[in-house]
Amino acid sequence: MSPSAETALFALTEDQRDIRAAVREIAEAEIAPHAADVDERERYPVEAEKALVSTGFNAVHIPEEYGGAGADAVTTVIVIEEVARVCGSSSLIPAVNKLGSMPIILSASEELKAQVLPSIASGEATISYALSEREAGSDAVSMRTRAVRDGDDWVLNGTKAWITNAGVSRWYTVMAVTDPDAAKPAQGISAFVVHADDPGFEVGPKERKLGIKGSPTREIHLQQCRIPGDRIIGEPGTGFRTALATLDHTRPTIGAQAVGLAQGALDVAVAYVKERKQFGRHLAEFQGLQFMIADMAMAVEASRTLVYQAAAATERGDANATFLASAAKTLASDTAMKVTTDAVQLLGGAGYTRDYPVERMMRDAKITQIYEGTNQVQRLVMARALLR
Ligand SMILES: Cc1cc2nc3c(=O)[nH]c(=O)nc-3n(C[C@H](O)[C@H](O)[C@H](O)COP(=O)(O)OP(=O)(O)OC[C@H]3O[C@@H](n4cnc5c(N)ncnc54)[C@H](O)[C@@H]3O)c2cc1C
Repeated sequence: MSPSAETALFALTEDQRDIRAAVREIAEAEIAPHAADVDERERYPVEAEKALVSTGFNAVHIPEEYGGAGADAVTTVIVIEEVARVCGSSSLIPAVNKLGSMPIILSASEELKAQVLPSIASGEATISYALSEREAGSDAVSMRTRAVRDGDDWVLNGTKAWITNAGVSRWYTVMAVTDPDAAKPAQGISAFVVHADDPGFEVGPKERKLGIKGSPTREIHLQQCRIPGDRIIGEPGTGFRTALATLDHTRPTIGAQAVGLAQGALDVAVAYVKERKQFGRHLAEFQGLQFMIADMAMAVEASRTLVYQAAAATERGDANATFLASAAKTLASDTAMKVTTDAVQLLGGAGYTRDYPVERMMRDAKITQIYEGTNQVQRLVMARALLR
């Protein structure tokens, strides 16, 4: 039955459903088989990268005029969700490509877009996003990295921390202070595009993490790092605004990662309780466990709906997009933490071992409550929007 005009609001388009099916097939055939090894050996998911690039799912959001598929925000979150359903680390390939490139898509000159975006669309390069510093996390505006004009160039100095996929990425969107005397510190920050081959650019050692172990997280060190003048994104002083506008577009992608992780754990748990017997009966026959599974599925579905709604709102530029993006990321990540933990519980001792993927999904879920702004910060953002 095709949806009527009234109910179409809550249905995916045929294209979006086809894309979900295509990504699921690739994820199950080419990404899932390597997920445990990627986690165990803390190695970059090269098989996933190859599979995503060869099928064009590595950065579907890049507009067509720069060689991309020009996918809408809902389609992009579906891609990320389906990859996360089998491997959280691999889902950071499309997610961080969107995070790193969104400042450029939103605010860069045509020349800079043409210089950077085609290489990301083709999969020749990936791009990371560098806002945080050791002493400037939730309070990102207190960053110390500096950029100064020198002739036609910009020279950057400082250290950015916690940069996802650093070392693998060729491009980095970097926020730095250009006017330390600005009346409002946020208005003294600018955004730049740095290339891994730029002089004075280096990455630090990999962080040793609880989860998403296949996605390297490193510091980036900028020491007299000289870049051409045209690598500034937009006007000087607009970098922090661009950084925040980017997060409105990408917090739903973290929500999608969380939904995917939760769905993956739920699917494993449902299959397990149908097979495993105790007291002469399948676990699935115990009402106490049926209620757990119903609650898990209900929370996943609610999160998915809010994530898609937030993605659509950012695409349309709705006035409440900031609120929805924070709400979707928070609800979905809190749900992912609870659902993956409950999935471990449903598998009992087996769930606690690496023989099943649910313990990995539980470890991977935790980061979705922390990055792109902790869930405490999301609640501040939501309250600010409500109390304005
Ligand atoms: C694996 C990983 C990958 C990351 N990837 C990136 C990346 O690619 N690019 C990037 O720029 N950054 C990245 N980050 C950084 C991430 O966004 C920050 O860690 C996060 O914003 C929190 O900052 P912090 O770690 O300094 O914590 P802090 O800001 O020190 O916060 C510590 C605790 O205090 C709470 N808190 C802080 N301020 C308040 C307040 N006003 N009210 C209530 N509670 C508050 C926080 O919620 C948290 O619970 C990554 C981090 C990790 C761990």
